[in-house]
Amino acid sequence: SAKEKGKNIFCFYNKEMDKALQEQFELEWSLRKAIEQNQFKLFYQPIIDLKRMKICGAEALIRWIHPEKGFIPPLSFIPIAEQTGLISKIGEWVISRSVSDLKEIKMAINDSFYVSVNVSLKEFSTSNFVDNVLYSINSLKIEPTEFGIEITESVAMVDPQKTIGILNFLKERGIKILLDDFGTGYSSLNYLKQLPIDIVKIDRSFIQNMTYDQKEQKMAKSLIDLSHILDLKVVAEGIEDERQAELLKTFSCDFGQGYLFGKPMPKEELLELAKRF
Ligand code: C2E
Ligand code: MG
Ligand code: MG
Ligand code: MG
Repeated sequence: SAKEKGKNIFCFYNKEMDKALQEQFELEWSLRKAIEQNQFKLFYQPIIDLKRMKICGAEALIRWIHPEKGFIPPLSFIPIAEQTGLISKIGEWVISRSVSDLKEIKMAINDSFYVSVNVSLKEFSTSNFVDNVLYSINSLKIEPTEFGIEITESVAMVDPQKTIGILNFLKERGIKILLDDFGTGYSSLNYLKQLPIDIVKIDRSFIQNMTYDQKEQKMAKSLIDLSHILDLKVVAEGIEDERQAELLKTFSCDFGQGYLFGKPMPKEELLELAKRF
């Protein structure tokens, strides 16, 4: 009967939903365990000063090394961490570990160097985020100007006034504010105008095609020029070949990051690279 059929359909969807929910619960459960057992690692991707062609800093990127499943990329667990609130614990760890790694790097290379960390929406909105950043930096006597936070436009979008307030507070203390994935959001130009940013990171999508697509190339150049007019420095993300790097240099792009210079790597490898480069 139709009633029976309806029931079956209902059961079918129910099972699918169960499966998705089940997977979500499992991921959440293993994420809690990962936090307890400290299964995370920070990798560092070098950021190069394109004028001097020297390493000047690095971006910290989280890695989850699951005991059975192995490597789990951040984009497969950061969203769940956000939804469940676990991001605040993870974020706290990212900040304190990146600051202590920065201390170690600075002692080893004896030169100015900066590290930036990615901060997601929920993390940014927690009440102890600012205290956590300042406490970590102060207790290890790190120059605030050598520590940066990377936010995306989506972070700024939810409560712009609150965001501006927090960013101003950090910026007044010297911490660098980087706008990540620039050019991919809805109203990028609006945020560029409103937010107290120091450095703009031009998204990889603009860099990818710039050597063979004139339009993309003009876009990239204009974004760099616009940033400079606004007194902002520019990092180009996702540089994979020499031609991209050369073009970006002719466009006076300040910094570059990408597989050409180095993939995200353990701190020990970054130290080796920094000594040679
Ligand atoms: P993102 O902040 O935009 O980081 C850059 C991503 O591009 C990294 O992916 C990096 O490995 C990748 N990448 C760098 N150079 C190249 C290149 O030349 N070619 C290509 N194809 N890719 C390149 P990853 O490490 O998988 O991180 C993905 C995203 O996860 C990050 O994007 C960031 O939004 C988020 N994320 C990573 N670590 C953290 C963290 O500690 N906390 C939070 N909240 N988010 C994080
Ligand atoms: Mg980033
Ligand atoms: Mg990015
Ligand atoms: Mg990204």
